[in-house]
Amino acid sequence: MRMALIVQKFGGSSVADADRIRNVARIITDTYKAGNDVVAVLSAQGDTTDDLIDKAAEINPKASKRELDMLLSTGEQISCSLCAMAIEAIGCPVVSLTGWQAGFHTNSGYGNARIKRVRADRIRTELDKKRIVIVTGFQGINKFDDITTLGRGGSDTSAVAIAATLRADLCQIFTDVDGVYTADPRLVPNAHKLDEITYDEMLELASLGAQVLHNRSVEMAKRYNVNLEVLSSFSGKPGTKVKEVVKTMEKTYISGVAKDKNIARLAVVGLKNSPGIAYKIFSLLAKSKVNVDIILQSIGRGDTKDISFTVSKADREVAQKVLEENKDAIGFDHIDVSDDIAKVSIVGAGMVNNPGVAARMFEALYNAGININMISTSEIKVSVLVNVAEADRAVRVIHDRFYDEIGGEQ
Ligand code: ADP
Ligand code: ASP
Ligand code: MG
Repeated sequence: MRMALIVQKFGGSSVADADRIRNVARIITDTYKAGNDVVAVLSAQGDTTDDLIDKAAEINPKASKRELDMLLSTGEQISCSLCAMAIEAIGCPVVSLTGWQAGFHTNSGYGNARIKRVRADRIRTELDKKRIVIVTGFQGINKFDDITTLGRGGSDTSAVAIAATLRADLCQIFTDVDGVYTADPRLVPNAHKLDEITYDEMLELASLGAQVLHNRSVEMAKRYNVNLEVLSSFSGKPGTKVKEVVKTMEKTYISGVAKDKNIARLAVVGLKNSPGIAYKIFSLLAKSKVNVDIILQSIGRGDTKDISFTVSKADREVAQKVLEENKDAIGFDHIDVSDDIAKVSIVGAGMVNNPGVAARMFEALYNAGININMISTSEIKVSVLVNVAEADRAVRVIHDRFYDEIGGEQ
């Protein structure tokens, strides 16, 4: 009888070279030899995906998204086949499968496709044969039988989707840090590792720039109640459990600080100070599928006002174009676009009942002489927009304000 069904995902740095692939093969086979069924989801090796994007740009900077996906999906095929070979060498039964062989069906959104369902019959058949199953992360096929990819960092979501479909006992996300920290440990050396974090807080952190987990993987883990753990493929230390409720929830105000440089700010200047303007702007953007984040409307001066908002860098051009095309209908003077901004956020379920939390964040920025351009808040987060050159320092001073002054306790 099997002990448990475990899904293990390994990120790019964990499979970067032959030694690391052998290390991953050892983790997988140790889990298998302990009596578990194992499905492993792998990312492309090291910087392979970036390199493939560069290769495409060399040939055709305007390549179609379909062909880009065809290309990008190959990175994961390489790491998976190599890992399967390493497992063969150890002497365990194994099979590697591409996204479509593993039954990943997605919508047609090339480059950022959504998983519609996983038809996991093939995976189940292989598991029944007592094989270790290695699956390429980050990809599937659409209704045209064309290969799609899930968006950068999407292998986490592939792993959680398999765990949800197979009702796995555990989904382990192996990466190059020991778990989820109170801030990016590469940026804030004194960041603390969290033993556990709620789905909601992790979702906010991931959506606000902490790339340790793909935000859609957390959303899915919450929806299907997947038992999720983030841990290192190098250190063997216990990682961070991501779950519905955590023991420390009442005690802590904030669980982390995150930074997102992948945003742009557009300011629509010289709008008429009359009703319906915001509606016009944001319905046009919605029609063009542009996701708007922070919105700020200035107090009208005389008969004009400004509306500023942020979008992801990828959406900036479309946003600007659709507004320029409708300049007369909306009625504005000009659009001011800024790329050199970053969003820095604090996240924590405990802040809703602690009114001083936002003030502490602003105080830290004030003491460091960092100017805030925009602010947005929700029940469990506060985000500020700062100059990109000051973003890393902003993360550090905010983190220190919450964690260090009181010796690690908040
Ligand atoms: P993988 O290739 O394994 O998917 P990623 O590079 O996508 O790894 O994610 C891991 C990285 O996320 C870490 O190396 C770390 O620099 C970064 N990171 C950002 N914020 C956090 C955080 N709060 N906790 C842990 N890691 C974080
Ligand atoms: N290889 C893909 C990327 O670099 C997917 C992933 O690593 O999760 O974005
Ligand atoms: Mg990742």
